[in-house]
Amino acid sequence: AKEQGKNRYKVFHSGMNIQSYKNFILRNDLRKAIEREELSIVYQPRVDIETGKVRNAEALLRWNHPNWGPVSPAEFIPLAEESGDIMAFGDWILKSVCLQNKAWQQAGYAPIQISVNFSAQQFLQKDLVGSIQQILKETELGPEWLEIEITESTILGNEEIITRTLNQLRKWGIRISIDDFGTGYSSLSYLMRFPVHTIKIDRSFISDISKDASHSQTLISSIISLAHGLHMSVVAEGVETEEQLDFLKKYQCDEAQGYLYSPPVPAAEFEAFLVPALSK
Ligand code: C2E
Ligand code: CA
Ligand code: CA
Ligand code: CA
Repeated sequence: AKEQGKNRYKVFHSGMNIQSYKNFILRNDLRKAIEREELSIVYQPRVDIETGKVRNAEALLRWNHPNWGPVSPAEFIPLAEESGDIMAFGDWILKSVCLQNKAWQQAGYAPIQISVNFSAQQFLQKDLVGSIQQILKETELGPEWLEIEITESTILGNEEIITRTLNQLRKWGIRISIDDFGTGYSSLSYLMRFPVHTIKIDRSFISDISKDASHSQTLISSIISLAHGLHMSVVAEGVETEEQLDFLKKYQCDEAQGYLYSPPVPAAEFEAFLVPALSK
């Protein structure tokens, strides 16, 4: 038993070393990822549950590392936040997304909104509104076609500055959503005091719909009715089954996003979800 314990300790440790070695390499290579064109953006459709139309897409970052292959954003975004590279990434993502959206509009497709994820550091940067406006100006994209996703943890502890920024963005016509809604520790009514347009219910609640008959279902239907009472729209994340969709439809959830419709795909593939402007 002693021997086993020793081995286990060794294995655990070398595993840790590989992970920290990998993080070391990744952190180092992050800086050059943009210029080496290793980053790309994929788009996942958000579908209007009632009409089946796609009016929004979420932009998600991908990193194809020359040695490690595809690295998950869940893995490298935290590293980019630690190193500060997230700021350069953020500008690159926002600009790429706005250029892409403008290009689709100019190609004659019915306009859609594209949602971009902002980490706390990005959202709390000095003159955030000014730099977003600059990118909108450069790319000539209308502000109503951009949505910014922030999480509850970004809001917490920064209520005053966040409210001010949200109000400014709103005034400029930019849309805002709260991502991963329900996963933090704040009360729903507290969170809903912030001036946002949309609430995205976290995937963990959606995947529980079929499992337990009570908790997640009650929570989801409460979020939807609270949000609607405040004129906010609700998106369900991570919708994978017809059963989940049926439940969401029954409780009048506005939009659904998930593998049931499509995984995130490259821009060229996403065009399959766009329709000509005239037929809208
Ligand atoms: P998120 O913002 O909550 O994004 C949703 C994640 O769920 C995405 O993972 C997406 O691929 C995945 N997903 C979508 N539908 C389904 C489904 O039906 N089932 C399952 N199991 N998963 C689904 P992804 O692309 O790996 O991104 C992970 C996280 O990394 C994102 O979570 C977001 O927090 C962060 N992230 C991604 N791109 C960016 C970015 O450009 N900027 C920032 N700041 N964060 C980003
Ligand atoms: Ca998101
Ligand atoms: Ca989310
Ligand atoms: Ca998430």
